[in-house]
Order: sequence, then C-alpha cells, then structure tokens
Amino acid sequence: MENCIFCKIAQGEIPAEKVYEDDLSLAFLDRYPKAPGHTLLIPKAHYQWFQDTPDDVSDDLFRTAKMLAKKLKVEYAADYVRLGIVGTDIPHVHIHLVPQKLSDKKVQGL
Ligand SMILES: [Zn+2]
Repeated sequence: MENCIFCKIAQGEIPAEKVYEDDLSLAFLDRYPKAPGHTLLIPKAHYQWFQDTPDDVSDDLFRTAKMLAKKLKVEYAADYVRLGIVGTDIPHVHIHLVPQKLSDKKVQGL
C-alpha cells in the first residue's frame, strides 16, 4: 500500500534492523523500544487488521512470533515476552514482542 511505512520496510525502501525474515513475514527492532529487544513482526503484504489476514499469513505470523519469543527470551534474559497486536498507530498489522521481567512495570499501550 502506498505511503505505508511498514510496506516500505517490507520492500526494503526504508531501512530497519531486521531480526528475522521469511516469504510471508518480517521482524525488525522497534525504532522506539519500550524495552531492550522490543521487536515488531509484520506480514509482508498489507492488511490493516489481523482478522483480515489469510490463514497462511496468520499461521506464519504466529509460528514466527512463537519462535521469536523463545529467541528474545534467551537473548535478553527475559522472564517472558509480552505480545500485543495492533493496527491503529500504523495501519498495517503488527505484533509487538517485548522481552519483560516479572518485576518490570507493565508496558502500557500495547
Ligand atoms: Zn502496509
């Protein structure tokens, strides 16, 4: 979609610190992290809302989210990885993955 920053990242028009990529999905570090390792996972194709993604896209996103959560938990010595799915701030489905400690203050706005 024209003028969508995440589509531009997926197409390589805007640089991002990529964490993972496959045919359907792309993960990169959030430019405004709420915690170290805060990662965004997006489908490469443009959909605003999660429920509108085809099954193969949503399946790939969740398999990838699970794999990334395991990886981030180890890399950032986190107790768990918080997940949030939104599409309002940037209208392209994205899953926030935020490594957290149980003692951390809850991340707001996800
Ligand atoms: Zn987009």
